[in-house]
Amino acid sequence: MNKTLKILIELQEIDHQLFEIDKKKGSLPQQVEKLESQAESVKSELETTRQALEDNQKELLTIKGTLMDAEEKVKKYQDQLYLVNTNREYDSLTNQIETVKSEMTESEGRQLYLESEIEKLQEIVVSSEEQSTAFVEQLDANRDELREKSDLTDARQEELEAQRVELIKHVGQRYLRKYDRILKARKRAVVPVERGSCTGCHKQLNPQTIYEIQQMDAFIECENCGRILVILPEEDA
Ligand SMILES: [Zn+2]
Repeated sequence: MNKTLKILIELQEIDHQLFEIDKKKGSLPQQVEKLESQAESVKSELETTRQALEDNQKELLTIKGTLMDAEEKVKKYQDQLYLVNTNREYDSLTNQIETVKSEMTESEGRQLYLESEIEKLQEIVVSSEEQSTAFVEQLDANRDELREKSDLTDARQEELEAQRVELIKHVGQRYLRKYDRILKARKRAVVPVERGSCTGCHKQLNPQTIYEIQQMDAFIECENCGRILVILPEEDA
């Protein structure tokens, strides 16, 4: 076989592997990024829940304080009831007691609500913390795995690129340009002939073309798709 064609077939194999590496590599950083942003959102949800829990606990303390003050007040007013001399003073005190008691009822309702909220939020915090821990562990494992994969890929890519540099030293610029041009347009630049057809586009070739390819002196391009045609040794017969 023509030496240049032989080299181009090797080159094409390398370019094909480089293309696959590029395709795979493209998604690695995105995968890590996606995991990191998921971990971030789990963390920030947990923060929000913790903050809400803390706010509710603070408010509950305040309400309990208010209720204790109110109880004291009611007791004080009730003691004063025994000391009053006029109906007016009596009514006024009774009114004040009623007002404080109705405020207490409101506070007690709020207290019940807060206590049940706190219970719910505490459960959420516990399960979110478990989730977050599991997620961070998974993220670390995935990140390590992705980094390892990416290192392997980088090494392979360098190796292939070095091989490519060596190979193209032995191909004339004119052929290399032609090869690059077809490769860009068609993904494969050199294709074998099988059962009398171009394997790039499946066009049946005429006997004269096949004869010319068999001579292997010149580059014969497929009339239909423009790829460079070769007959591989096992197909030579
Ligand atoms: Zn073709």
